[in-house]
Amino acid sequence: MNNPILPPATIGILGSGQLGRMLALSARQMGYRIHVLSPDHDSPTGQIADKEYTASYDDLDTVREFARGVDVVTYEFENVPAATATACEQFAPLRPGAQALHISQNRLREKQFFADNGLPVTPFTAVNSLTDLQNGLTQIGTPAILKTAASGYDGKGQQFIHRPEDAAAAWEKVGKRPSILERFVEFERELSVVGARGLDGRFVHYGVIENNHHNHILDISVAPANLPSTVAADAIAIADTVMAALDVVGVLTVELFLISNGRFRLNEIAPRPHNSGHLTIDACVTGQFEQQLRAICGLPLGDTGYRKPAAMANLLGDLWLEENHHSDTEAQSQSVKSAKSVARNPNWTAVFAHQDLHLHLYGKHEARPGRKMGHLTALAADTQAAKALVQTVREEIKGD
Ligand code: AMP
Repeated sequence: MNNPILPPATIGILGSGQLGRMLALSARQMGYRIHVLSPDHDSPTGQIADKEYTASYDDLDTVREFARGVDVVTYEFENVPAATATACEQFAPLRPGAQALHISQNRLREKQFFADNGLPVTPFTAVNSLTDLQNGLTQIGTPAILKTAASGYDGKGQQFIHRPEDAAAAWEKVGKRPSILERFVEFERELSVVGARGLDGRFVHYGVIENNHHNHILDISVAPANLPSTVAADAIAIADTVMAALDVVGVLTVELFLISNGRFRLNEIAPRPHNSGHLTIDACVTGQFEQQLRAICGLPLGDTGYRKPAAMANLLGDLWLEENHHSDTEAQSQSVKSAKSVARNPNWTAVFAHQDLHLHLYGKHEARPGRKMGHLTALAADTQAAKALVQTVREEIKGD
């Protein structure tokens, strides 16, 4: 095995949101130094870093300067341009590698990769014109979902198509951009598996996590998901297959739809720690961010065991805003900028009244509807009790 990267080495992070922040917090705890590069200043990750580079990802001179100063580079979002990744690789190992980025940043490549590796996917086809879309709908049927192939997340750039007559409107709404048409999956539940793979190829995982979305944004996650062990084993095997095929060194998450008879459809992958894995920070012996650090530094992987069943609830910007702001799709698409600063502070005392409920805030200066500002994690005797607690307390903290 290559020499491990030990403290006080410097970890380079591309992207400066909450995922970078939580990785930086784990790294700091273990005595590593952190350099971060993104277009933002005083960012969630920058607040924790030793050095914050504020530059466009296309500013390759600054990217090279950043990479020259670190021992390993990782990314906390998948839309890092290929040229940026290549520039970093000249100076430091990039983990997980460029291949995981290349596949995960384009939905079409991603679905094709799943199909090529014998993994279960919903029928899909490439759409580059209205004619492609009409032909695709004939082939795939309705209902279907049209998604832009690049740069979509949390349901952005997606159009639900009920009937073939909706094709032209949907094509307009995705901005006539290269897209993927997918058959709508009548799923029973949404699940994820957060896995980690070491430099030596060892694979570990956090079992299966069950996720509930609201307005296409993750709302609540619970773990371990209540599933027959054979079904859970199949989900974990999918994560293992993906990570081995991409030769990932780091954390990777697979998002799955559970359909009838314990079968799956693989929706997408994220080559990084994942929102659904945030509960591992408080619930597991080694949380997903420490695990990411261990993997990218070439250290042995940590114990993924759960101390207790857990639930996580996201805290969106809506909680900070007046009652009349809701994170409905219309508000999101208009990207409401009504709150220049935090309008009011949620009532945190309600959180601290519970001894196994944990608050995480991301240091974001501006609350906006639908923006992820933090999360709550509860540990309890079972997942139902943990879920009830995060839901109840999230209601209680609305306004002081
Ligand atoms: P995505 O950005 O692809 O993760 O999609 C966001 C959410 O939209 C998913 O978590 C699902 O709730 C829903 N969704 C996406 N694709 C499909 C599909 N083919 N069938 C049913 N629901 C979907």
